[in-house]
Amino acid sequence: MVNGPVDRVFDIACDMVGSLAHISHENTNPGVVAVETRPPPDFYYKTVRDFCTIEEAIAILEATGARYKGFKNGRGLIGATAAVCSVLPDRTFEYLAYRKPDAFGTPRSVDRHSLSDAETSTFPHTWDTFDIENNCVVCVPHTPDPVLFGVRGESPSWVALARMQVDSEPTEIEQIFVTNQGTDAHLVEGEIGSLTEGFSYRVTGTVCAFAQSGIGGHVLIEIGDGDQKVRCMAYEPTKGFRNIIRALWPGDRVLVTGSYKGGSINLEKICILTLSPAMTKRPPVCPSCGARMTSAGAQKGYKCRKCGARTKDPQVTFHDRTITPGWYEVPPIARRHLAKPLCRGP
Ligand code: ZN
Repeated sequence: MVNGPVDRVFDIACDMVGSLAHISHENTNPGVVAVETRPPPDFYYKTVRDFCTIEEAIAILEATGARYKGFKNGRGLIGATAAVCSVLPDRTFEYLAYRKPDAFGTPRSVDRHSLSDAETSTFPHTWDTFDIENNCVVCVPHTPDPVLFGVRGESPSWVALARMQVDSEPTEIEQIFVTNQGTDAHLVEGEIGSLTEGFSYRVTGTVCAFAQSGIGGHVLIEIGDGDQKVRCMAYEPTKGFRNIIRALWPGDRVLVTGSYKGGSINLEKICILTLSPAMTKRPPVCPSCGARMTSAGAQKGYKCRKCGARTKDPQVTFHDRTITPGWYEVPPIARRHLAKPLCRGP
């Protein structure tokens, strides 16, 4: 076989992975894939929206004539195959700063005020560096990996501009990557009553009842479509977003996005399409004697137990709404990588 550019790239990548990966860690199972021409994007969409196996990845690689190597259990071949298959109709950028090897495993030193300043001065062109509302650093991982921090944004120049403002420990290398983060690439259109476990959806429905707050701070609300209902959850880490859910009224029309797990949609965003009139009904005051009337039975209106008067209509009270139609999202600290932040548009 001629040792062409694909072979050279493949050999270099395999050497790098072999020498740098912490291969002894049980969850480290890298994969390296090099192709001459991009395979169809179907496998990429399957990895972000569905479930995939190593065997499926290998079948595509064999059919494409790719060079590939799976280390240990080969699980990394799924991501590597998805990467070479990927098409990014929408795309974002991430500026990754990597630690010096001698710092691996030690606490990261990144000045939080500089991160807050970087967020403030470059938002909405960058996002999820610092959660201003919750006063919390978002872009610095807590896992023992070599990444010091990552800045996500619309363009290489915006992420670089934000990075310039960050004060930190010295870095080994820095690199800007094209990504599918913040693009909602994982979402598919869904219908209440026919959702599949593990998929992430965009679903429209009507609020069935007021939200319930549970132990641990989660908020649960049911939305329905016809006879079908689905539970939607806003967990404690979604902080102030839960107040939006608590402010919903039965009858509000909403579009929600999130992953469907354990029979619930874990909310990422909600669009309030229309607000219900938000009215409550109670028996009226008797027009004759002024006493509070009582129900005369289903569909029978109201009667006065004092003077016997009857009336059809209840007393209706309209309530002020504290929310307005439009989009709402979980805060940066609770956002999944693929979820598109509202600063990029709905
Ligand atoms: Zn009366």
